[in-house]
Amino acid sequence: MMICDVLISYSFFILKFYLNIMNKVYLKPKKEESLLRFHPWVFSGAIARVEGNPEEGEVVEVYTSDKKYIAAGHYQIGSIAVRVLTFQKEEINHDFWVRRLSVARDLRMALRLIGTKTNNACRLVHGEGDNLPGLIIDLYDHTAVMQAHSAGMHVYRHEIASALKEVMGDTVLNIYYKSETTLPFKADLESTENGFLLGGSTENVAMENGLLFHVDWLKGQKTGFFVDQRDNRALLEHYSLGRNVLNMFCYTGGFSFYAMRGGARLVHSVDSSAKAIDLTRANVELNFPGDKRHEAFAEDAFKYLDRMGGEYDLIILDPPAFAKHRGALRNALRGYTKLNAKAFEKIRPGGILFTFSCSQVVSKQDFRNAVFTAAAQSGRSVRIMHQLTQPADHPVNIYHPEGEYLKGLVLYVE
Ligand code: SAH
Repeated sequence: MMICDVLISYSFFILKFYLNIMNKVYLKPKKEESLLRFHPWVFSGAIARVEGNPEEGEVVEVYTSDKKYIAAGHYQIGSIAVRVLTFQKEEINHDFWVRRLSVARDLRMALRLIGTKTNNACRLVHGEGDNLPGLIIDLYDHTAVMQAHSAGMHVYRHEIASALKEVMGDTVLNIYYKSETTLPFKADLESTENGFLLGGSTENVAMENGLLFHVDWLKGQKTGFFVDQRDNRALLEHYSLGRNVLNMFCYTGGFSFYAMRGGARLVHSVDSSAKAIDLTRANVELNFPGDKRHEAFAEDAFKYLDRMGGEYDLIILDPPAFAKHRGALRNALRGYTKLNAKAFEKIRPGGILFTFSCSQVVSKQDFRNAVFTAAAQSGRSVRIMHQLTQPADHPVNIYHPEGEYLKGLVLYVE
């Protein structure tokens, strides 16, 4: 886009804002039903017409076919056309962001994840789960890593950053914006590159349940660390005493250093990414300098599981999402079965398997069936000890069940 085009479109945006010309979306008859049940998405197929020519990421008001106001949200071209920010008639301004972020902060304080001596890492905003569709904010000590998954959250990033600073005060000194890979690539958005919106410190050691870890928010996956496994890692620690642990798909080694604190005999961490293995080694060193119980291998999971022996009696399988969309579901389920079958084949009698799926499109029952098939193939006696999910700082909006994505089983294998 030429500079003058940008200026014209920005001026138009400001003019519309000051003249309070609202963009309006009118639904087709009877298409408001899911919104009446507070589901926060309007699909493009439900829309009869759009008034005001909204830009991607602008706020639009949503009306029923008989012109009753029902919601307001961010507009975007695509299957999800509006992500609802509010079902009230209210302005989306600085106070709005402050109110929403304050509720999110208060929940994490109630969970005792903010302001404690043993923890300074948590998810502060979990999209729809915090009534902020398209926005993720993770806190790592004094740094907030903010990620937009929608055009709207990108367009409003500076307003959100300023409200975040107001809500968090001196707890947040840096805000790093990291949305290069999560924004809708088709949207014609400006300034999408990663960078600091506030501060600029690269001091990157954070703490989870008293254990330290480096967070690579500049280059790491997601916001730099998988905060969603906190509770499951703590459970693993509980079962680690005297065991030989294999942490497969270790990424930054979260499960590994918990296993070590839990008194594991040995811990082997495996990931296909050499960079992840370096991060794992660094994190183990940070918590247990010179501890010879730990070794890390940069290797493909399937190859490692094929070549390893039967030495492990505690195995963690936490692979990346095998299915990113519905179309990939069947293959993904086959993948989960194949992976788990290898673990059932090799794990020592009396062993414990922590197995996960973070694919949103794979339901709890689908995952359980895939693991069941793997268990049956091995012919071993398998009991379900725990059924795991995402932690409370990744809340699920009751009106948006799609927000539930992490599933885990802890299995006792005879
Ligand atoms: N358990 C981790 C998160 C795992 S993320 C934690 O607690 O933080 C998934 C990891 O799987 C990534 O680090 C990725 O590099 C790794 N991975 C992807 N495909 C792999 C493969 N075929 N073999 C081994 N590791 C793989």
